[in-house]
Amino acid sequence: MNYLSTRGHPDRKRFCEILLEGLAPDGGLYLPEAYPQVDTATLAKWRALPYAELAFEILSLYIDDIPPADLKAICAKTYTAEVFGTDEIVPLRELEDGVYLEALSNGPTLAFKDMAMQLLGNLFEYELARRGAELNILGATSGDTGSAAEYAMRGKKGVRVFMTSPDGRMSPFQQAQMFSLQDENIHNIAITGVFDDCQDIVKAVSNDLGFKRKYRIGTVNSINWARLLAQVVYYFAGYFQATASNDKPVSFTVPSGNFGNVCAGHVARSMGLPIQTLVVATNENDVLDEFFRTGVYRVRAAVDTHETSSPSMDISKASNFERFVFDLVGRDAAKLRKLFVDDLGLQGSFDLSADPAFKQAAERFGFKSGRSTHADRLATIRDTDKRFATLVDPHTADGLKAAREQLVPGVPMVVLETALPIKFAATLVEALGAEPARPKKFEGIEALPKRVVKLPADAEAVKAYIAENCG
Ligand SMILES: *Cc1c(COP(=O)(O)O)cnc(C)c1O
Repeated sequence: MNYLSTRGHPDRKRFCEILLEGLAPDGGLYLPEAYPQVDTATLAKWRALPYAELAFEILSLYIDDIPPADLKAICAKTYTAEVFGTDEIVPLRELEDGVYLEALSNGPTLAFKDMAMQLLGNLFEYELARRGAELNILGATSGDTGSAAEYAMRGKKGVRVFMTSPDGRMSPFQQAQMFSLQDENIHNIAITGVFDDCQDIVKAVSNDLGFKRKYRIGTVNSINWARLLAQVVYYFAGYFQATASNDKPVSFTVPSGNFGNVCAGHVARSMGLPIQTLVVATNENDVLDEFFRTGVYRVRAAVDTHETSSPSMDISKASNFERFVFDLVGRDAAKLRKLFVDDLGLQGSFDLSADPAFKQAAERFGFKSGRSTHADRLATIRDTDKRFATLVDPHTADGLKAAREQLVPGVPMVVLETALPIKFAATLVEALGAEPARPKKFEGIEALPKRVVKLPADAEAVKAYIAENCG
């Protein structure tokens, strides 16, 4: 399996080469040259597999430069009941007639990002040991990515984490989760600014190829292909749990920010998994909903990016969206470059409304979208508690609301549960008047000593900090 860049760079790479990289050299995102196709006989075989073995089967189609026995061992070590709480790893339950919740948030940091990041930690350690190399991971987080990365990489040999986050914008629980880690290889950097400033810093540092090489900078942001690939697995696992046979269509609703999670759904669907609709659920930061409604992709300025009660979806641009648009425009790299380099660069938007490709987003690729407000979120949390005695976090609530708008009789709708409610306790208190129960291991974490430095929103300041602190 070879990987190409969405922006047309002539080089082709193997999985382990892009594993430790972020963007392609031309600023594009890596994608496989083609999506492996899964036939019904294969689906039938996979249906019976435990999660770790299903993961191995799917990853094997995309990874041919790790010996199968090693890859199998990595999957087995990653997806255990001990780490994820149940043998199913991603248990599905029916909430109401035809609407299901797929639990993706029972890993170490209580958000779905653990699903990919725990695998990434083990892949990184394996590959770095094999090369006798070290890596300094630079990341940007508005909460869940950072903690998932830190819990996946803590104590891992050959890896340091430098995680930027917008100062004061994460929930107290999220801050405590990250900043209380005392591991020497974990560095928390609070940036004076918003999440997009953090993302821009990561991009600026990664684009400084000299610095990147000298300090062996890598990334674990959602543009990392291995993360996206790991997420493909739970679409299959969700599908198998929601159906009794492989001829039934299923739809998924995905609380979305950077378009990583739902892009994995797009990959699963492109492989032949019978997914009918992929519903992209957004909050007030609705750049994706706007695109799927109108064909106009208009990135927002930092000042127009709202701070919402589903903060992990507070984005002004969706960093993985380019992957989907590449497929949407028929993998035409020149056209892709015009949209993402010329149009976005010059005017901050592109317009596909009059392009025949836009219709394909819904008709051929199955995309729909929805949008929620703070009031919707509270109403959904209350309603779900009242009618089903089930607590959902604000992101999952955004998903539920969008899902209900797209129900089709006879087609199961699986809503991806992206975090546990305790991570966003303030909003649960606002909705229900009481805090959700907290897992024992997280009791009192806000009071623990914190390990964090504060820096301005300036790539040079972050570079200087890395240079000083990387061994
Ligand atoms: C990261 C995150 C999202 C958004 O996922 P993307 O892959 O960026 O679209 C949604 N909900 C929660 C809880 C998250 O942590």
